[in-house]
Amino acid sequence: MYEPILTRNIGVADSEKIATYLARGGYEATRVALTQHTPAELIDMVKRAGLRGRGGAGFPAGTKWGFMPVDPALPKIVAVNTDEGEPGTFKDRALVERDPHQVIEGVIIAAYAVGANRAYVYIRGEFFLGVKRWIKAIADAYERGFLGRDILGSGFDLDLSVHRGAGAYICGEETAMLESLEGKPGNPRLKPPYPAQRGLFGLPTLVHNVETLACIPHIVLRGPAWFAGIGTRQSTGPKIFCVSGHVNRPGNYELPLGTPLREIIEGHAGGMSGGRKLKAVIPGGASTPVLTADQIDTPMAFETLAAAGSALGTGAIIVMDETTCMVEAARRLTRFFAHESCGRCVPCRVGSQRLYETLDRIECGKGRPGDIDLALQIAQAVDGTTFCPMGGALANPARSTIERFRGEYEYHIAHRQCAMQTGRATAIVHRLSSGRSVRGQNFNRRRRP
Ligand code: SF4
Repeated sequence: MYEPILTRNIGVADSEKIATYLARGGYEATRVALTQHTPAELIDMVKRAGLRGRGGAGFPAGTKWGFMPVDPALPKIVAVNTDEGEPGTFKDRALVERDPHQVIEGVIIAAYAVGANRAYVYIRGEFFLGVKRWIKAIADAYERGFLGRDILGSGFDLDLSVHRGAGAYICGEETAMLESLEGKPGNPRLKPPYPAQRGLFGLPTLVHNVETLACIPHIVLRGPAWFAGIGTRQSTGPKIFCVSGHVNRPGNYELPLGTPLREIIEGHAGGMSGGRKLKAVIPGGASTPVLTADQIDTPMAFETLAAAGSALGTGAIIVMDETTCMVEAARRLTRFFAHESCGRCVPCRVGSQRLYETLDRIECGKGRPGDIDLALQIAQAVDGTTFCPMGGALANPARSTIERFRGEYEYHIAHRQCAMQTGRATAIVHRLSSGRSVRGQNFNRRRRP
């Protein structure tokens, strides 16, 4: 039986309050880190733990800490990314709303390890409760001496404050977030230089996601070997999986990395709603390629999902049953990315619009012969040619659904409507890239001329 680590306080009464956190052993990791370890030892611990970023990219956290310059005369910054705009992802918000002090501990320890005396929380503007909880938790941490001057008599100083974003998806990208923190439009910067070299206000900046920081106190208290013993060799530690879509119990589930998708969907999330069959899963948030039902035994780890042709991303599992039109799913996701493009580079600004128009044409029964290949060409053209990772993200819904459910696209063009709305869906065989077949059923969707 897995014992929750990151979510252990969630469900406890008043879990967001500092008194509750302290009563459950809170801030002990801060005391141990600041009074018993050197910054170099902490960096080494995080490296040995094998912790990888939980915000989507999966970059090794200890390596990132090691990139920060060691010059003590150089001011440094820690920036906490609470933007969390990836569709299907809602774990960081839960951590901040329900257990903010766990994250603050991670910030203090990370700042001490890299020699930063200033930290900023960047939070999505719509997270009203999260903003409130961050502000209250920071004020309480100051009052108890966990923030401010000479923390716990260690001689280490740290100031932490909150900055609200205005709700742009792209501000979750680290350099766009730094631009927004500086008060500018949230447009990504060209890398290099990376934030560890030249980040917020031109200073070396360590940027971390909330869930990544929440892991830090546990590594300090229980050791890197314990952390590395959870999960797989290349994907260590606990992970909060956000499950949404056609399941009986959508929600956040904390499990070891490497837990099979089947166990999460059929076990923890209560199986498919309405007794319908699984058709497809997006395993890591809207920007990751879709998997088919026959890939449900894939372990949820960085390396196994990459081998399966997708990615762990944020660990946001979007489950789609047999009534889902994959063309419509891709069209909606592409519309989201087209809307959220900051417009700075041409392939993303123009490509996202053209891709959306192509998918929209196919979906509403006006598709032309050649439109499927056109969509693939546009996806190919934007992937890897853009300023930031948005290009690859926006290509994935169209490209992966065409690769795995091409039959549905062909049916839309040939019959000028969706197989799901004809009532003949049970007779339509969707050709999968693997050569296997699944059957659709009637789907009560709007009909467009
Ligand atoms: Fe902006 Fe898109 Fe270019 Fe990223 S890829 S910088 S979101 S236009």
